[in-house]
Amino acid sequence: MVSSWSLACSNCTATHDATGLPTVCIDCGHPWLVRYETLPTLTMRELLASQPWTMWRYHPWLPLTRTEDAVSLGEGCTPLLPLPAIAQGLGLPHVWMKDEGQNPCGSFKVRGLSVAITRAILAGATQFVLPTAGNAGVAMAAYGARARMPVRIYAPHSTPPTLLAQMHHFGANLHLIDGHIGDCGKAAKAYAEETGATNLSTLQEPYRVEGKKTLGLEIAEQLGWKLPNCIIYPTGGGTGLIGMWKAFQELLESDWIHGPMPRLFSVQAEGCAPVVRAFEAGATSTEAWPEPVTSASGLRVPDPLGGKLMLSALRQSGGGAIAVSEAAIQQDTAYLMQQAGIDAAPEGSATLAALRQLVAEGVIQANESVVLFNTGAGWLYR
Ligand SMILES: *Cc1c(COP(=O)(O)O)cnc(C)c1O
Repeated sequence: MVSSWSLACSNCTATHDATGLPTVCIDCGHPWLVRYETLPTLTMRELLASQPWTMWRYHPWLPLTRTEDAVSLGEGCTPLLPLPAIAQGLGLPHVWMKDEGQNPCGSFKVRGLSVAITRAILAGATQFVLPTAGNAGVAMAAYGARARMPVRIYAPHSTPPTLLAQMHHFGANLHLIDGHIGDCGKAAKAYAEETGATNLSTLQEPYRVEGKKTLGLEIAEQLGWKLPNCIIYPTGGGTGLIGMWKAFQELLESDWIHGPMPRLFSVQAEGCAPVVRAFEAGATSTEAWPEPVTSASGLRVPDPLGGKLMLSALRQSGGGAIAVSEAAIQQDTAYLMQQAGIDAAPEGSATLAALRQLVAEGVIQANESVVLFNTGAGWLYR
């Protein structure tokens, strides 16, 4: 099957063809989303058995034509690990943790960057720039090396040192900024305008979300095409949440799954929770969070461009948004290491802390199955 697609604005009625590498909607500044001409038919589900064991097994769902090659390091196909003691302790039928820390570069960021870099190079890009809170920078550096293209990265001074060292050792040109990812975003934008480098900042191009979509496709396949009742996801820029929601809608539309859809829950840190605040206020868009602070650097995104899309996915799915404390994150990092053998990033541990809170509050109920997301490897933060 040859994928054929165009771009539709996520906010207004503007459209764009698939050529080149468009940034955001020219009319309203909101992100573009990919719209496929046709989705894979149900009979194609049987052909999955013969596909490679990477996220590119879902290539009919991805923006790649048959004659094109992906820039890949074998990303995706991470395990869905059961947490039976947690399930039993909380009185739930099933709790799983999708361990994205087992990806190349140790985080789920590789899914988005593999697709985005592939499309950017096909569109003629010769150098890249990216603002990062940590893991996106490592992935950008490694995939840039894989494609043998120069990479420039802007990261906060406060980024965990091991993450910075990885970027440096993968050969990126790394610039530290005294500020948060929003400040790095401004520097990256200025650099792109000055030099013509391609800016792969979150939701500033349409293809990272397509890579993140494979998170949703993979859970569906791993659970035998039956989705869990609830998914708890640590939310920063929001591409994971937006991508998964898009995957579930496309799967439903193509008859690969049937309802009900999972309830999506966004977890953020108490020191940076713009999505939680907007959700609780009943707002349709997020407002910038002043002075964001959290050890979960991937959640230190005070003003996400995809706020509106995230809030709409959370509400449409019947889910919610919840903030957890730094102490709860630390406790569940230790719990996961010592009681489950999982070296989770603080963002991943936050999903377990959130699950405990959501069960205690009666929001998640005794008959519901739950997938938690560990989005990265814990050792990168030490
Ligand atoms: C980037 C990142 C997040 C936030 O992900 P989004 O999909 O941008 O919301 C969460 N956890 C880790 C480890 C990250 O690197």
